[in-house]
Amino acid sequence: VSFIRSLPKAELHCHLNGSIPLATLQRLAAERDDLTDEASEAVKSGLETLKQGVQLSAIGDFFGLFPAVYSLTSNPAALREVTRDVLHVFLDPKSEGDQIIPPECAYLELRSTPRKTPHMTRKQYIEAVLAEVEAYPADKAALIVSVDRRMSVEDALECVSLAVNLRNEGRRVVGVDLCGDPKAGDMKDFIPAFEMVHKAGLGLTLHIAEVSYSELPPDTDVLLSARPTRLGHATFLNDAEQMYICDNKIPIEICLTSNLLCKTVTDLESHHINAYLQQDHPVSICTDDILPFRTSLTAEYALLLAKQPLGLGLTEEQVEKIAKFGMASRFTSL
Ligand code: IMP
Repeated sequence: VSFIRSLPKAELHCHLNGSIPLATLQRLAAERDDLTDEASEAVKSGLETLKQGVQLSAIGDFFGLFPAVYSLTSNPAALREVTRDVLHVFLDPKSEGDQIIPPECAYLELRSTPRKTPHMTRKQYIEAVLAEVEAYPADKAALIVSVDRRMSVEDALECVSLAVNLRNEGRRVVGVDLCGDPKAGDMKDFIPAFEMVHKAGLGLTLHIAEVSYSELPPDTDVLLSARPTRLGHATFLNDAEQMYICDNKIPIEICLTSNLLCKTVTDLESHHINAYLQQDHPVSICTDDILPFRTSLTAEYALLLAKQPLGLGLTEEQVEKIAKFGMASRFTSL
């Protein structure tokens, strides 16, 4: 563990509402007195599920976890509170007895989907998150604005415009992400929004091929045509697509525990990270959503080092190289 902790690591794929400490949500739930009975019930059962540990039979089940969290992060004050706690988890040193544990990572690109609620506009959403992100130095924390595949094109364009305008005002937005249910939406419609991202000089990261072609309208080629700066998951790619990614040196954000628990990968031996490592292709190790997946960046790196079949059985030298790939894949470095 001390070897992993001593490595400078970047966390580049971390969804804000999927990374809130359970204790923070429980505190918010206890404080909220304006929820309807129905929302209160949903929050109670959602938090209970998260406390017991989630059991997913497929990735589709995963998205059902978020409405309960969203009921609690529906105003700027709550959003600031959860963002502060997530940043603390990743970026602040902790004490364990008389020992000081170094921060989980040296640099965090936090991502979140701006939601419009009765209590805030999408702009207020981003500004609340940014206010906390910008409390850290620029070489430690930055924000990626997520676009959800379930959004209308107009909403996606609104999110990207906000990201671009805030960036132009000098705020710390470094990129745009495409996330959400991999089966939703027609991604051809989102191409103009992705073009805006490039024009503004922002990074573009796309969740791609997260589920298999038998379940998915094959939109991998559409997404690759958007010239992504980085890719998330990239699990089910054919040889030609993998070759394109390797030829273009597009770094891949890898989330091992997330893939195993969402059952998009059966075991680490068959995980697609192995193919990329064999080709010396840049990958970055990330957590995705530490709230439901109960992992940490240290734990994800431990999976690299652990002996097979529990882990990938890599050497310290190989793991150090992967950590360097991660740091080199920051939007500010690419
Ligand atoms: P938020 O963007 O801060 O609200 O973080 C939670 C959201 O991130 C979820 O509602 C999903 O849309 C998205 N998300 C989290 N994990 C995944 C994933 O593994 N695949 C696709 N989308 C995800």
